[in-house]
Amino acid sequence: MLCPFCSSDNNKVVNSRSARQGASIRRRRECLDCKRRFTTHETVEDIPLFVIKKDGSREEFDRQKIIKGMMRACEKRNIPYERIEELASNIERSLYNEMSKEVEAKKIGDMVLKRLRELDEVAYIRFASVYREFREGIDFSQELKSLLHK
Ligand SMILES: [Zn+2]
Repeated sequence: MLCPFCSSDNNKVVNSRSARQGASIRRRRECLDCKRRFTTHETVEDIPLFVIKKDGSREEFDRQKIIKGMMRACEKRNIPYERIEELASNIERSLYNEMSKEVEAKKIGDMVLKRLRELDEVAYIRFASVYREFREGIDFSQELKSLLHK
């Protein structure tokens, strides 16, 4: 990112704000050479987001993986694909809105769970049973009971 006044690439971000519902990020930068300020716009595709997996390794965030996971949970549940895609976009947007560069896989799983719970209980239970290894400590049978006795 070059300074438009002196072409130096030596600058710092003084302020970041997401725009267009998280689809782009507006950054206010200050040139460290001429001290002038300028604004840059970055679309989310330019900002890599890494997912920290359970084993500590990292991979680039892939919204398609969220969709696949939800599709599997929603199998034969008569839920339109558009709805699943919408939930995935929603998750993606909130992640980018936080403007962090890394996110734990567990957190994404929790976000999916939360939305599936509102969408379809069977899908929720399926996803939770695959996913529960991430969340030791949660009493899954307790969770099931509370669902069945609603
Ligand atoms: Zn400058």
